[in-house]
Amino acid sequence: VAGGPQLPVPPIVWSIAGSDSGGGAGVQADLQAFHALGCHGCSVITALTAQNSHQVRKVEVSSLDMLRTTLATLEDDMPAKAIKIGMLATADVVRAVGIFLSEKATEGSSGAVICDPVMVTSSGSVLQDELARQAMIDTIFPRATLITPNKHEAEMLVGYTLRTPEDLERAAHDLLAMGKSGAVLVKGGHALDGLGGERSASGEGLFDAAVAQDYLLESNGKSGLWITSPRLENQNTHGTGCTLSSAVAAFLAQDLPLVDAVVLAKAYVSQGIRAARKLGRGPGPVQQTGWPAS
Ligand code: PLP
Repeated sequence: VAGGPQLPVPPIVWSIAGSDSGGGAGVQADLQAFHALGCHGCSVITALTAQNSHQVRKVEVSSLDMLRTTLATLEDDMPAKAIKIGMLATADVVRAVGIFLSEKATEGSSGAVICDPVMVTSSGSVLQDELARQAMIDTIFPRATLITPNKHEAEMLVGYTLRTPEDLERAAHDLLAMGKSGAVLVKGGHALDGLGGERSASGEGLFDAAVAQDYLLESNGKSGLWITSPRLENQNTHGTGCTLSSAVAAFLAQDLPLVDAVVLAKAYVSQGIRAARKLGRGPGPVQQTGWPAS
């Protein structure tokens, strides 16, 4: 064996997600997060997107054969310590991933599964159809350690608008009841979108414009936790959702408790937003180097 110190073997983390040709979100963001946080990333690409910083021009969903073969090939030799799931465009794709997860669970292998329920890009392109959404609730959420909807995704899932922090807490409880995941993180980064300062009918407190507040609720009876950080002014936030869920997976793969993994992942994304720069005409990607900040 060649000389040099024996470096620790990094845990293997998978991204089961869509490719973003622009390199800001999707599998490309996920792999950067895994690498930056000390893991080896494998990728199961569920769809190709022809995408730049401001638009998705075309989406091509991977064949079920390619999807199943990739899952089986990796499982055979490079099984995951943790899995991040992102874009699942169709019900068939959701079911193929769901069957894989349930077979894995039957065999007793129990890595963490983080599901980011990707539905629509910030630029407005639909990445998941409605049948897929329901199939995801039925077959992926029950196998997930954590689901990470943003405000818009949570609204689509629960069917009502989230106007106040109390609404966000209620949605977290409803999402746990609906999907039976181990925990839910409802992200409030988009909390102010479309609200325009209006006051809720019930008169409850509105979201605080100075902070980004996420609410973590675990199914094991522990009370929920608000995780608050300063709201950053940078508009270059492409890929923040993908990066957050991947960072949680990377920290869980290193045996951190869930709350620690989520708090550290949020700090990682905040650091990435602070350093993010515009690259094309649209929002630039979250910056993913230099963790922790020097
Ligand atoms: N493209 C792909 C393949 C994605 O998985 C995601 C993730 O949500 C996006 C684009 C959306 O990124 P954003 O909403 O940050 O533009």
